[in-house]
Amino acid sequence: MPEKPQLLEAPYRLKKIVQETPDVNSFVFEPLQEYNIKFDPGMFVMLQYRGPDEKIARAFSIASSPLEKEMEFIIHMIHGRFTKHLDTAKEGDIYYITGPYGQFRFDPNVNKKVLFIAGGTGIAPFISMLRYIDQMHLDTEIKLLYSVRYVDEIIKRQELDDLTKRIKLDYAVTVTRPNEDRGRGWNGLTGHVDASMIANYAKDVNERTSYICGPLGFVKAVKDALKSLNISEASIKADVWG
Ligand SMILES: Cc1cc2nc3c(=O)[nH]c(=O)nc-3n(C[C@H](O)[C@H](O)[C@H](O)COP(=O)(O)OP(=O)(O)OC[C@H]3O[C@@H](n4cnc5c(N)ncnc54)[C@H](O)[C@@H]3O)c2cc1C
Repeated sequence: MPEKPQLLEAPYRLKKIVQETPDVNSFVFEPLQEYNIKFDPGMFVMLQYRGPDEKIARAFSIASSPLEKEMEFIIHMIHGRFTKHLDTAKEGDIYYITGPYGQFRFDPNVNKKVLFIAGGTGIAPFISMLRYIDQMHLDTEIKLLYSVRYVDEIIKRQELDDLTKRIKLDYAVTVTRPNEDRGRGWNGLTGHVDASMIANYAKDVNERTSYICGPLGFVKAVKDALKSLNISEASIKADVWG
């Protein structure tokens, strides 16, 4: 693994807000200064709000590629202590970004065949990896298993479809609540990611490096499932948000 990029703090200006799904927005920031934060795909930063009322920071995975100047985040709008500030954020607002952090790093020289397993907004670091693979014209063989509760929660669906035409990406979405109002008409996989779903979807899982990202319960369950398929700890990389 190459050396970790240097840790920096820098002010960024909010450039664009996009509603991706009913509860998830993406936020694109541009650096205010000449230099910007360097990172490897998969890493995260601390995003800090500095207002008259309070200063508060939270960790967010970077969804943009390291080759882009702007930094994008995909954020579940839960109206919590930090995310409530994003509810009223507007273009031009200044936030401070410190980073990068994390061991969840994609190294294209080592990881030629990968299985990405994402839960909800846990898709964010994989979007960064996929964009990087696309921009670098890498021949990484990728399988992506993506778990959402409802069909309308699939983030960046069009982009994922487009990427399948340009890079060696195959992806499958599993919907865990297909029978509720927001899940009708779904013909794809259903239910939580478990060992049999992984084994059916990625028959050569033992030849791949597996990356898991999502909430604590999700990551733990998927890790256990991989271990039950005799996948060694060394071939599993996990990023937990809990
Ligand atoms: C390494 C890392 C990377 C991360 N990357 C991302 C990312 O890319 N995208 C992302 O969205 N998050 C990410 N997170 C989570 C993020 O850091 C924050 O924890 C999250 O945004 C919630 O912060 P908050 O201050 O708004 O909530 P807090 O006020 O800190 O609330 C914490 C918890 O309380 C509960 N809660 C509070 N208010 C509500 C509410 N109104 N409705 C429902 N539940 C509530 C939730 O369980 C929530 O997780 C990441 C975390 C880590 C550690």
